[in-house]
Amino acid sequence: MTVIKTRFAPSPTGFLHIGGARTALFSWLYARKSAGQFVLRIEDTDQERSTQASVDAILEGMQWLNLAADEGPYYQTQRFDRYHEINAQLLHQNHAYHCYCSKERLETLRTEQMANKQKPRYDGLCRDRTDVPAGIAPVIRFRNPQSGEVVVNDLIRGEVIFGNDELDDLIIARSDGTPTYNLTVVVDDMDMGITHVIRGDDHLNNTPRQMNILRALGATLPAYAHLPMILGADGSRLSKRHGAVSVMQYEQDGYLPEALLNYLVRLGWSHGDQEVFSIDEMIALFDVTHVNKAAAAFNPEKLLWLNQHYLKTLPAEDIAQRLALYLQRIDVNTASGPAVVDVVLALRERSKTLVEMAASARYFYQDFSDYEEAAAKHLNAAALEPLRAIRNALAELSTGDAWQKESIHVAIQQTAEKLQVGMGKVAQPLRAAVTGQGASPSIDLTLYLIGAPHSLARLDRTIATLQQA
Ligand code: GLU
Repeated sequence: MTVIKTRFAPSPTGFLHIGGARTALFSWLYARKSAGQFVLRIEDTDQERSTQASVDAILEGMQWLNLAADEGPYYQTQRFDRYHEINAQLLHQNHAYHCYCSKERLETLRTEQMANKQKPRYDGLCRDRTDVPAGIAPVIRFRNPQSGEVVVNDLIRGEVIFGNDELDDLIIARSDGTPTYNLTVVVDDMDMGITHVIRGDDHLNNTPRQMNILRALGATLPAYAHLPMILGADGSRLSKRHGAVSVMQYEQDGYLPEALLNYLVRLGWSHGDQEVFSIDEMIALFDVTHVNKAAAAFNPEKLLWLNQHYLKTLPAEDIAQRLALYLQRIDVNTASGPAVVDVVLALRERSKTLVEMAASARYFYQDFSDYEEAAAKHLNAAALEPLRAIRNALAELSTGDAWQKESIHVAIQQTAEKLQVGMGKVAQPLRAAVTGQGASPSIDLTLYLIGAPHSLARLDRTIATLQQA
């Protein structure tokens, strides 16, 4: 039985973007689902546009998304000998020929064809040429069949038919001998035993050319699935204008890879009206033949919703490990203060991203000098008496292990009763004084996590400031 093999074949000319990540995910899922192999291939033959920084960015993105390859990364620049060998074979078998036409001739031809409202294409002048003009480094062209049709049985789009008369004799090696994209893809898909080519539909027009070359090489043809493009909310092709498109920008912004993968899998694919898919469910349920033909629209709110869902539902220890990194990034030292996992449990119902959670977690570990506006408005002359009273009540709890959520709650309640005010009249200035924020998790839990020494010191400082005012 043939082993199912898919590949992700990015050109390293930029970061890993949302569209690329979805192609990678669908290819990866298809391999996982079929107990097959997933190949990563870096298509770096365009040496002017490819950079090591892009290779690193792509690998980093793949790693963050946890889309591990079973084979590779292969680099096309390391396979030039093989491409030369295949070009020589194609020439030898008369499936390819040298073309000596000058740039000027091709340019004139093109202008003429355009003027005659014809589709610009090579006219085949060198197709049957037998002489070898001196002093010209030729390109190599593939001898495309001149008649008949190429039928692409696309797994998503169904039958797509191309007439051979629409296809050029395309250049497979430049005059400096370097192979071109369509040749390298074909050789690699053949050599690597790729059974399913899953890629963006911007490549659909290349497919009949690639199939013709594969046939000339006597190779087994892979199945093809061309994914519809991704649109921004305004209906135009997804681009930087629509916000972050780099996968690692989502990491920077505090998204979980679980959320992004879940989001990506729904871009063009669905299973009933289910929205939340664990990786195992995706593997079990994904089917490339059920991908929608129509373009998928990118919806940032849905991604945010999924992110919050995973923040709330993944094991707290797991979130804590990731949060620690985001806290480090904003210079919050967690060596002393509450366990990060407890902070996660306190904050995860109220945070949409890890960046937001880290920002909210700051006051658990650091004193602050400014009160946010929503806090400052509770800190006026009327707050002084409740703050003094609760400060004294809390001070009673500062020794031994009396500092507990329940005892803090009782202290607030009793203080409010004593002053004959509602609990909010005590709790709101208390929260403002101790966190500097207008909102926080429940006040008793918040104080408990901050601990007695920092809570009391912050209360003292606020009281002192209010007294001076
Ligand atoms: N290297 C091509 C790209 O990044 C993909 C080629 C393919 O999937 O066949 O667009």
